[in-house]
Amino acid sequence: MNSRCPFQGRYNEVCQKKELMNKKNTLQAAMFAEMQSKDLFQKANQYAVNYLEEVFDRNIFPTETALQQLENFEEPMPEQIGDAAAIIDLLHQYGSPATVPYNGRYFGFVNGSMIPTSLAAKNLSIYWDQNAAMQVMSPITAKLEIVVQNWLIELFGLPKHTVAGFVSGTSMANLAALTAARYRLLKNKGWDVTEQGLFGAPKIRVVTHTHIHSSILKAISLAGFGKGNIELVDCDQHGRIIPQNLPAIDDNTLLILQAGNVNSGAYDDFEAICKTAKEQGAWIHIDGAFGLWAGATKQLKHLTKGFEYANSYAVDGHKTLNTPYDSGIILCQDEEALVSALHTSASYLESSQQREGMYYTPEMSKRARVVEMWAALKYLGKEGIDEMIVGMHERAKEFAEGIANVNSFEVLNEVVYNQVIVQCESDEMTLAVMHKIQSLRECWAGGSTWNGRKVIRISVCSWATTSEDIQRSVASFEKAYKQIKGVQAGRSLC
Ligand SMILES: *Cc1c(COP(=O)(O)O)cnc(C)c1O
Repeated sequence: MNSRCPFQGRYNEVCQKKELMNKKNTLQAAMFAEMQSKDLFQKANQYAVNYLEEVFDRNIFPTETALQQLENFEEPMPEQIGDAAAIIDLLHQYGSPATVPYNGRYFGFVNGSMIPTSLAAKNLSIYWDQNAAMQVMSPITAKLEIVVQNWLIELFGLPKHTVAGFVSGTSMANLAALTAARYRLLKNKGWDVTEQGLFGAPKIRVVTHTHIHSSILKAISLAGFGKGNIELVDCDQHGRIIPQNLPAIDDNTLLILQAGNVNSGAYDDFEAICKTAKEQGAWIHIDGAFGLWAGATKQLKHLTKGFEYANSYAVDGHKTLNTPYDSGIILCQDEEALVSALHTSASYLESSQQREGMYYTPEMSKRARVVEMWAALKYLGKEGIDEMIVGMHERAKEFAEGIANVNSFEVLNEVVYNQVIVQCESDEMTLAVMHKIQSLRECWAGGSTWNGRKVIRISVCSWATTSEDIQRSVASFEKAYKQIKGVQAGRSLC
């Protein structure tokens, strides 16, 4: 036996033949050598650890120099086999500085940070490189999918027969949910959409509201409902659907609601709507990308009251739950509809005792993204989820109070969750101040539009945000405002 061979079992044989292969196949030999020495992985891991050491102190956005140095990646497609170590060096040297660290002072979009245990678990599972499509491809992934599915049911208090599919994010979860709804509503009318398609099918009504997320509009279009067919319901000033304005709901209706408005964080009134809509035979889908987690807390649970009457839910791991990126979940109370929609036939439900991951997602092959979800939930426990999510809410309130004390800013929303929207005296000032805040690189917040006005949107979405981060960020907002005012005063003097 070759004592240098790092592999066990059937790989020993391969290693013993390596001498021979070296002559015939330089690429294979080179890759065996990388596997054997592991220097490459140690190098990448060392860089990763170095990166983590400074991630909480970094500029919140890459410097101009770092952005310019991205030019180093511009080159024609290489002709020859490369130098593995040099590739990792290049990636770290010019790649790491051009990243956006989602640490405690990043408030842009609704971009979450990463829980250390979850990130470390993902790192390990990356080396496993599992295909999560089927049990036989990865028993550990299949096991964790079942475990996490059960935990989610318990956390959100959903019926036992609810199923979960592990997808790339809420966009994909929304799409999966809408295809399940399409299947069920049409099936109830005696139409099998998986066989017969949509042409000539009974009409499905799509009812949603003016503040629904753009990913829902995308899903509506992808699922063939047509954005032009949406019956749009008005919202109140908080961005919540006005229940009294709902059209008559029937058993042809797909009703799409929202837990967490992407600007204000507001929740639709599920209690007022869902039970009755369900009784009328509608399919109710809730987009809860970052907001559904309130339903897993004690203090904020009231926001999701009545959501259990819905049929399907989309929620992200990578936003408020702070798993690393590429992690969303479709939760569906109608297993047959979801599996039939995504897998073309639910006949497996009778024939197979096994839960196969691919039946619950649009993809077949996919990475074992459940691993970091499992690690996050196992680490946090119910108490940790409560503390983290409520903590984001508390920090958001601190931000709103802090910024309201700076005369130049007005807070426009009631901070029910983790979102704060502010504006200055004019759209022009709001935009100028926002760009100044971004260029100061002390914290980062982006823009949006709210009731026809330009706003700066602050999303507290990281476990790492402290009260000190909030103070520093509020101070940076104030500084940015003063600098812009200074510039404007200077300009008017000339
Ligand atoms: C972010 C978001 C989405 C889209 O989720 P992705 O994970 O980015 O695909 C959908 N709905 C709402 C309310 C969101 O905030």
